[in-house]
Amino acid sequence: MTPGNPTVRAAGIVTLVAAALLGSAYVLGRSLVPDQPQRQATGVTANADEPHYADQPTGDEPSGTPTPGPSGGPTETGQDGSGRDAQGDQLFGAHSTTGTARLALTFDDGPDPRYTPQVLATLREFDVKATFCVVGENAQDHPDLIQAIVADGHTLCNHSWHHDVTLGNRSTDMIRADLSRTNEAIRAAVPDAPIVWYRQPGGAWTYPVVSVAQQLGMTPLHWSVDPSDWEAPGAGKIAASVVTQVEPGSVVLLHDAGGDRQGTVDALRRILPDLTQRFELEALPADPT
Ligand SMILES: [Zn+2]
Repeated sequence: MTPGNPTVRAAGIVTLVAAALLGSAYVLGRSLVPDQPQRQATGVTANADEPHYADQPTGDEPSGTPTPGPSGGPTETGQDGSGRDAQGDQLFGAHSTTGTARLALTFDDGPDPRYTPQVLATLREFDVKATFCVVGENAQDHPDLIQAIVADGHTLCNHSWHHDVTLGNRSTDMIRADLSRTNEAIRAAVPDAPIVWYRQPGGAWTYPVVSVAQQLGMTPLHWSVDPSDWEAPGAGKIAASVVTQVEPGSVVLLHDAGGDRQGTVDALRRILPDLTQRFELEALPADPT
C-alpha cells in the first residue's frame, strides 16, 4: 500500500474491516460449537473401548441431563475444544500460553494404544517434545505408554480420572480424590514422574478445581489454539487450522485418544515441518515458575 494515496489507504481499511468482520463471525461460529455434544448426552459409557472423551460427557452425571454450572458458570459439557479460550474470564487464571515465544503442543485424553505410539514416533522423527494430558484410567490401563511418553522426554499433565467435564462443580474432596487418583496411576507407571500441570476436561474451569489443582502442586493449563480435532474434520482441516492460528507462545490443543484420532496423527506429520521451521517447540516445563 502507498501511504500517501488516500484511495489505496481507504481500500486497505475496507479490507481490514472486512477481515475483522470475518474473524468475528468465525469466533461466533465457534462459540456455538459446545451445544452440539449435549445432544449426544446418553449412553456414553456403553462401549469401554470407545470412550469418546473429547466428544461426549462422562457417564457420571444423570443420563441425558444437561449440566449447566451454577449461577452462570460453565455450561459446556463435552469436548475440550469448546471455543472457551475466547472467554478469558472463565479461565480462573489457567495458563493459555507458554509465556515465552516458544510453542507447546499438547495431546489430551490418552494414552491410547492406537494413536499415542504414532504420535510419539512422529514427534521423535522431528525431534519435538510435547506435553501429554493423560486421563487417569487410561494411564492405569496403559502404564507402558506413560513410560514411553516420559522416556521420550515429553512432560505430563493430569487430565482427571475419567474426563469428568463437571468435576469443577463437585466437592473439593471429590475433586482432590479424582486428581490424586490420577497422579497415583501415573506414578504407578513412572514413580518419579513430575506432574505439574492440570487440564480440566472440557476447559470447564471453576475456582474449586483450580484451587485443588494448585494445592496438589499443579498449575492449571488451558490452551490458545484449538483446531477442533475432536470433531474429526480430517487431517487437512486440522493441519490448516493449526498452521494458520499459531503464533509465538501458543499452546495447541490436540487429542491422541477419545475417538478416531487418525486425522490428528496424520495432521501432526503435515504440520511439524512448518512449525519446526517457524517456531521453537517445547514440552511445557516440568518445573514451572
Ligand atoms: Zn480432554
